[in-house]
Amino acid sequence: MPARIIDGKQIAADLRADLAREAAALRERGLVPGLTVILVGEDPASVIYTRNKQQVAAELGYKSELIRLPATTTQDELLELIARLNADPTVHGILIQSPLPPGLDEEFIFSQVHPDKDVDGFHPVNVGRLWTGQKGLVPCTPAGIMHMLRVTGIDPKGLRAVVVGRSNIVGKPMAALLLNAHATVTLCHSRTRDLPAVCREADILVAAVGRARMITADYVKPGAVVIDVGVNKVPGTKNKIVGDVDFEPVAEVAGHITPVPGGVGPMTIAQLMKNTLIAARRAWGLPEEG
Ligand code: NDP
Repeated sequence: MPARIIDGKQIAADLRADLAREAAALRERGLVPGLTVILVGEDPASVIYTRNKQQVAAELGYKSELIRLPATTTQDELLELIARLNADPTVHGILIQSPLPPGLDEEFIFSQVHPDKDVDGFHPVNVGRLWTGQKGLVPCTPAGIMHMLRVTGIDPKGLRAVVVGRSNIVGKPMAALLLNAHATVTLCHSRTRDLPAVCREADILVAAVGRARMITADYVKPGAVVIDVGVNKVPGTKNKIVGDVDFEPVAEVAGHITPVPGGVGPMTIAQLMKNTLIAARRAWGLPEEG
């Protein structure tokens, strides 16, 4: 029996529609969530990403600003801008697009964004809050995956979850979120012994590696939920991408599966918008959900 496809495009569209409705209701009370995206330099992929983020925020009715700075911007200039945005009550989310041009200390600069406006959820204070079960802002890709599981009716409580990949932006926060949702979590990486056997234990298997079609059917327990975070360009094609999961054969074994494209990818920006609204509601002293 082939797996049920988890349609990330639809789930993300539904989430954006909910956020737009919520933003419209808040606007009637004079409250407008604000997102500022900062792009330093001209990296072509970053130009597209930042424009998308700015446009989606504007479409949802947020106050949305893209600040583009030349690659020659000094660290002091950037820190001055961050300080100004930290103090601006109309800005609830500040996102600095990575990578920064050489010569800028990315780790230090990112740490200067106020944690309550850190809508990427990468600030060490938010990482600490996540692992200690406190309210903070959570990285968008794993938070988006939790939203997908929720709306699909999959409760991780008591399940075995295996996450392959231990990056700070996907693997580790994914493990923390699944743990907070009461899954029993195993976090794997390039040194894990007998990875297929570990993965076969999983009721929920999350692949965040960056290796095309690495997760084959023999990694998957029949009926498992398979979440594919990977985005891998297919050599020799213009824009074709595949995930970390060998989709067709795995879909024959799994119970649920996310496709690439159209799975986890669309959730990331939608969740960024949700994080911005969460940050705004907290700044206004409103309860989390409208
Ligand atoms: P990183 O390169 O930072 O991390 C990759 C992880 O995979 C590392 O922990 C690495 O282990 C592990 N790994 C590498 N090779 C193997 C292997 N053979 N077996 C087991 N583990 C292995 O990647 P990211 O977390 O940033 O991204 C992962 C993928 O997700 C990429 O394809 C990226 O493009 C995609 N992505 C997609 C997003 C979306 O919105 N859809 C958002 C973010 C990322 P070790 O630590 O030991 O080196």
